[in-house]
Amino acid sequence: MSQATLTRPSLTERYAAAFARSQKLHEQARNIFPNGVTHDARHLLPFPVYVERAQGAHKWTVEGRELIDYWSGHGALLLGHSHPAVVEAVQRQMEQATHPGACHKREIEWGQWVQRLMPSAERMRFTGSGTEATMMALRLARIFTGRPRVLKFAGHFHGWNDFLYPGADAPYDAAVPGILTEVAQNTVIVPPNDLDAVEQTLRGDPQIGCVILEPTGGHWSQVPIRGTFLKGLREITTRYHRLLIFDEVITGFRVSPGGAQEHYGIKPDLTTLAKILAGGLPGGCVAGRADILASLEFRPGKEKMRHPGTFNANPLSASAGIATLQIIAEGQACSRANALAQQLRQRLNALFAERGDACVAYGEFSCFKLLLGYQGPRPSGDDFIPYGGDLNKLTGAKDPRLSHAFRQGMLLHGVDLMGLGGMTTAAHTEADIEQTVAAVASTLDLLREEGLIER
Ligand code: PMP
Repeated sequence: MSQATLTRPSLTERYAAAFARSQKLHEQARNIFPNGVTHDARHLLPFPVYVERAQGAHKWTVEGRELIDYWSGHGALLLGHSHPAVVEAVQRQMEQATHPGACHKREIEWGQWVQRLMPSAERMRFTGSGTEATMMALRLARIFTGRPRVLKFAGHFHGWNDFLYPGADAPYDAAVPGILTEVAQNTVIVPPNDLDAVEQTLRGDPQIGCVILEPTGGHWSQVPIRGTFLKGLREITTRYHRLLIFDEVITGFRVSPGGAQEHYGIKPDLTTLAKILAGGLPGGCVAGRADILASLEFRPGKEKMRHPGTFNANPLSASAGIATLQIIAEGQACSRANALAQQLRQRLNALFAERGDACVAYGEFSCFKLLLGYQGPRPSGDDFIPYGGDLNKLTGAKDPRLSHAFRQGMLLHGVDLMGLGGMTTAAHTEADIEQTVAAVASTLDLLREEGLIER
């Protein structure tokens, strides 16, 4: 081995040198925030990068390093960062009023777009976030059905409220720190993609009033769900008189302009929305059957669900949402983002096959996931689901050292992944996809040099 090879800086040393300003900022942040971060998913060892500016599908760190972005605003951006129509709408609104503390025209216009695009949205109520929306959907379901419990699926994420956090992450039957057992026992968790388990559970537990799911699979298709399962679920919930809630916080306006429900032609009773709904600003909503949302109305002699919320339908989010939904309604933005993610998955799988890497890319619509250390058949087509959809193999414990190193490597090569995957927007380009494939190849080489992976 030559002297040059021996003294070559390690991956972490190269990362620290490339993102030195970020490291300095992180040192300050650690004295303010636990782990120095403001969202669990942004935790990255030895430190995360700090981003100063973003435009389209790219963002620039405080060091001025350009990154191809696959966080896409935690899924909130389908048109890319700072789309001119969104910027203009928000700037105009900023001058008019940020919080009139009153009803306003923008909330009507925003709601009309949601009604136009989401097939099941007879009525809706805006909330401050997706977490608030799923919390509201459950409360509405309890009032409407008179049944306290919810059935959800292992590995499905519905925000961080106490009722729906249980079962979001492995191990799925474990207690969640800080969540009361009295609350958690009203959340019944079954494995995904198992209609018999759903039917048996509903038959045996009349206390369950609703079923909630991420309609393309938990954590944006980590264990993908297909239309046949959704159709079966619609049929079973109807037969047992329970409500079906689609959590379309990610899939809404992404999978298609009308979300997964439009794509699969299935009408849930309630739908939760956020992220793209508000065009990159904060906001959420519950939409659905008028008779269920009627519990929010003041009706003499009837139970009412109380619903305050300082930032419900705030005009800035409404303006960003209107500008975004208007463009999404044309249809090309969703199909472009979907096609680019498909291209990325296919190009990556071709690369892995060519090099013999123990990796696979999979996912659906505009989402992609990477499995490192994958041992199994290579994909036969883009609808391939690794490990036959086995929940434990697809979501099981990952080696954090490997995933942190992978992200460091990708950042060094100009790509910011959201964990081991990401989401495309309509602003990504074919050139971004090619650069990303090259970055993955170089990163795998780096990890191999570090002895973190074998071929
Ligand atoms: N549901 C799903 C499917 C989500 O992905 C998320 C957020 N990632 C939420 C609910 C919660 O949304 P928010 O972060 O706006 O509270």
